[in-house]
Amino acid sequence: MAIKSTYIQSVYDTVKKRNPGQLEFLQAAMEVLESLEPVIEKNPELRDAGILDRIVEPERQIIFRVPWMDDKGKVHVNRGFRIQFNSALGPYKGGLRFHPSVNISIIKFLGFEQIFKNSLTGLMMGGGKGGSDFDPKGKSDAEVMRFCQSFMSELFRHIGADTDVPAGDIGVGGREIGYMFGQWKKLTRLFNGVLTGKGLDFGGSLVRTEATGYGCVYFCNEMLKARKSSFDGKTVVISGSGNVAIYAHEKATQLGAKVVAMSDSNGYIYDKDGVNLQTIKRLKEVERKRIKEYVNEHKSAEYHEGCFDIWNVKCDIALPSATQNELDKKAAEVLVKNGCIAVAEGANMPCTPEAAEIFIKNKVSFGPGKAANAGGVATSGLEMSQNSQRLAWSFEEVDKKLHQIMVNIHTAASQAAEEYGTPGNLVNGANIAGFMKVARAMLAHGLI
Ligand code: NDP
Repeated sequence: MAIKSTYIQSVYDTVKKRNPGQLEFLQAAMEVLESLEPVIEKNPELRDAGILDRIVEPERQIIFRVPWMDDKGKVHVNRGFRIQFNSALGPYKGGLRFHPSVNISIIKFLGFEQIFKNSLTGLMMGGGKGGSDFDPKGKSDAEVMRFCQSFMSELFRHIGADTDVPAGDIGVGGREIGYMFGQWKKLTRLFNGVLTGKGLDFGGSLVRTEATGYGCVYFCNEMLKARKSSFDGKTVVISGSGNVAIYAHEKATQLGAKVVAMSDSNGYIYDKDGVNLQTIKRLKEVERKRIKEYVNEHKSAEYHEGCFDIWNVKCDIALPSATQNELDKKAAEVLVKNGCIAVAEGANMPCTPEAAEIFIKNKVSFGPGKAANAGGVATSGLEMSQNSQRLAWSFEEVDKKLHQIMVNIHTAASQAAEEYGTPGNLVNGANIAGFMKVARAMLAHGLI
């Protein structure tokens, strides 16, 4: 695909000039801008108000030093980020990623995607994202705690329950959120919903842990229903073995599917009898071990070095749930050749644009991340509601709401795709449906 409108091309050219070398951000901006061509043609007032020119520029970008000391007394310095991208629909909302690969481009791409994703949920949340190039892997609990405290010692002045509400992402789970919430409370003396993904004992929501994976499967199920199919009896491959991947496995299995492969950043396992979820949960959530340990306990399984080869495993449904650009054109061609009928992105932008194009061209149902993985932030939104009410809802209540939100997102994206002339193209549909609400709010707020 390529941009045809000279106006939209000029918006993209400015983004490119202003953000040299920020490849992930440019990739995300290009995808959204391409989808919005028919929208701008039909709604010229959006062009006159400079909505696109404004939406691609973050409202605020915060970069800070995070010094901390390891167990041996050695000083380390990491870099912290918080991108407050767009607050048209509510307080900035989006996770924190701790991974050595984190840089400004990755955080901006994630923050940009978050604007449209949060809009799709129907809840009042703006878009933001943050993180650090800190690697929690291999660190002691005490080291992780010292890092989180140092990180929050700067972040606290930029966030707030009605200003900006971070959550987890890669490398940030319940442990890290707990340490950061503790430091927030100490510094501000406020006990409120400033972070989501909190422990259940101090304001967390039931289903938040499961939400992204469950939501991705609920969304994929809607795509399957639209082609008169279901998860029942299907073979599924899920990349990653973190929060999203584990709970995508759990829900897909509950719906009658068999998950035969999962991965981590070193390699993947294939278990023809179905990957045992309890073993994965223990290895990853409790023992924090590598996925290759799985084969020591399950003789039916094989381990292969190299995480990206997981897409060679034959499947009906693929749920890429590890990281950005992990599924390229070649992998997409293999999946199509092997008869895959649906791909839903549990991760953010795991499929390259070329891979997404192959799926759409070959009539593989394709659910882009900003729609398919919106269940996590949606449930974070529900956690914020519960915190405001000082109440906690039951598992069934939250799960029901999450399910309904994912059904609504699928409907909204399908309808927008249809209305703007690309029926079935949920990439366009999600971008357009997410964008329209933000654009209307920005118009209403005037030039700010
Ligand atoms: P976790 O840290 O829990 O797990 C990440 C998984 O992906 C791990 O198995 C990890 O392997 C693997 N992985 C990470 N980086 C790479 C890499 N560069 N190459 C290969 N594999 C990698 O993160 P989550 O499950 O929370 O997040 C996964 C994806 O889902 C991310 O794209 C995130 O942005 C997205 N997402 C998460 C949400 C949430 O609620 N958690 C919400 C919406 C989207 P290893 O252990 O070896 O690093």
